[in-house]
Amino acid sequence: MKVIRAKSAGFCWGVERAIQVAREESQGGSRTVYTDGPLIHNRQMMDALSKDDIQEVGDYQSKNDINLQDTEEKESVVVVRAHGISPQRRDYLKGLGLPFRDGTCPDVGIIAGKVKSHSEKGYQIVIFGDPEHPEVIGLMGYAHGKAHVIMSENDISRLPDLGDKVAMVSQSTMFTHEFKHLSGMLAEKYPEMLIFDTICGATKERQSDLVDLVKEGADAIVVIGGKHSANTRKLAKLAASHECPTFHIETAEDIVRADFANFKTVGVTAGASTPEFIIRKICRCLEQF
Ligand code: SF4
Repeated sequence: MKVIRAKSAGFCWGVERAIQVAREESQGGSRTVYTDGPLIHNRQMMDALSKDDIQEVGDYQSKNDINLQDTEEKESVVVVRAHGISPQRRDYLKGLGLPFRDGTCPDVGIIAGKVKSHSEKGYQIVIFGDPEHPEVIGLMGYAHGKAHVIMSENDISRLPDLGDKVAMVSQSTMFTHEFKHLSGMLAEKYPEMLIFDTICGATKERQSDLVDLVKEGADAIVVIGGKHSANTRKLAKLAASHECPTFHIETAEDIVRADFANFKTVGVTAGASTPEFIIRKICRCLEQF
């Protein structure tokens, strides 16, 4: 079977940076690095990082208190993950009394800056995103209680009257076409609304490369990445929307040979948190069919 790999498959720069920050702080495992929830949404990569004593503590949404082991024999440091956190959570983590390093992706930092500055100017903030996702939870913390999260047309109809000052941003990993559609609807309701398309460049590139795979003749699409990874799930949804048989898998062990019996060409892409070693292994496996 022929395998076409998307150019952008795999780590985005924000994930690479967060991993680099954590590895720098770990100093080859001589210090324990605690990340508040998974540093990135990929279980296999978190397992690999644990060899450098980079450990996930806290919870997926960064809401619960953290109980750190008192390890006197080794220094420890807290690292914030790529999705970022709310200012309240930042204060909490700093209050743990350990050295603190921020691995928040600068693209998420830009969104947080827009939410903060506009809420301080009296704007109501509409965030297009998943209210359960840690990035959105973090962004809401910058809105001084003025955030409204929407995912669909129904959510727009349920919004209270937001007045004249409204600003809209997006979670970094959403679909561009959905953002355009919903921001257009909202702009009819709030003609003065400020619209900031904050979907990150890495997400846009992965979405357009996936469409290219279909155009290049892929009979089926394999999307590799963690089941918790928002951008990976989005890629799988986008591929399925092109009526292309789509397989969202995490590792080579998830591949069922019989599923690919009728395909000549398969397109492979991967979420922004999927490590290269997994992508290569899966491509090799598919090529052997
Ligand atoms: S997907 Fe975008 S916002 Fe998220 S870490 Fe990567 S570059 Fe940053």
